[in-house]
Amino acid sequence: MTFSFDSNTRSAIQADTSYLKATPDGFDLGGRIYPVLTVKPTASTIVTKLFGPGWVHSSDQCDEGPKCPECNDKKARKYLRLSVEMDGRPLQIDLPPIASARLAELVGDGIDGLLRMTCTRAEKNGNAWGDVTFEIVGKEAA
Ligand SMILES: [Zn+2]
Repeated sequence: MTFSFDSNTRSAIQADTSYLKATPDGFDLGGRIYPVLTVKPTASTIVTKLFGPGWVHSSDQCDEGPKCPECNDKKARKYLRLSVEMDGRPLQIDLPPIASARLAELVGDGIDGLLRMTCTRAEKNGNAWGDVTFEIVGKEAA
């Protein structure tokens, strides 16, 4: 028997959390664009996503369990779902593998401070996306 939240519980938990999206123009937070954000990381988890034409299968929305064929598909990519706080407000962002690896290298065994995230435009083969880089900045006030 595996434990999982039903979708009502999940949406209740997520209701207070806003989602940040890395776009070619910067971070999109509820329709406003920010090129740089300074945040306090609070938690992280891995979410597997499989993209198809017009759909995305995400392991956090999947009720099929660990043997789900989509979640285990070779083309599925692992995203780092980073939970952060910005001015006390909980936010989440899903980081693609390149940005996740950058963050993992920066953080090492842990960081004591705030994280400055910068989103810049990247382009390849006519596709544009938001590329996220990180810096550790001053410690938070006690
Ligand atoms: Zn699945």
